Amino acid sequence: MNTVLNKMKNKSAQDILKEYGTGKKIPVDIVSIAENIGIKLHSVNFETLEETDAFKERTEQEDFILGAASTDEDSVTILYSNRFPTNKGYEHISEAVREENLKRRQRLTIAHEIGHCCLHMKEGDYHVEFRTDLRNNDKDNEKEANIFAGELLIPENMVRDIYSLCSRADVKPTIPLLATLFRVSKSAMTARIKHLKKSPESFLYEG
Ligand SMILES: [Zn+2]
Repeated sequence: MNTVLNKMKNKSAQDILKEYGTGKKIPVDIVSIAENIGIKLHSVNFETLEETDAFKERTEQEDFILGAASTDEDSVTILYSNRFPTNKGYEHISEAVREENLKRRQRLTIAHEIGHCCLHMKEGDYHVEFRTDLRNNDKDNEKEANIFAGELLIPENMVRDIYSLCSRADVKPTIPLLATLFRVSKSAMTARIKHLKKSPESFLYEG
């Protein structure tokens, strides 16, 4: 029996934060959470894997592997890519910003894979994550893992705390500011706020 996977099975992001989180510290320490659960984490260069017959077709279409989760009879491993983002215009961006963007993407990948482990994976399963999967809202599993990752890295109670801090300081809680505080990409932050605005129980609900 895979005790690590069993700890995560059917858990919500809130459950994971409560049981394995490190308090109300912002940004959420996703590496500690993974380690507290007992997940093995590795930063990996996926280039060789991307060139194999199994994955070549997708990676040739400007896609690349961001991460993977795999389980066997007694362990859960999450791999995340150490490849720098290569979006257009990146050549003009400083090393420090590139490093930070890589870090933010890796945090999201880890949270997204934890989502798959909680919601979808069975013992013996493995899942390879392509860049487009983290943007994909057509596949139910990917959509669910993305929402889960948002809830894990950007918990609503912490968003509320930041909004109230901003309001007291008369500062607008803009997406770039929130993304920096929660150490996620601007697109992940935008998606999370959009989701909260659509959730009837949320303090940000707009109907
Ligand atoms: Zn996924």
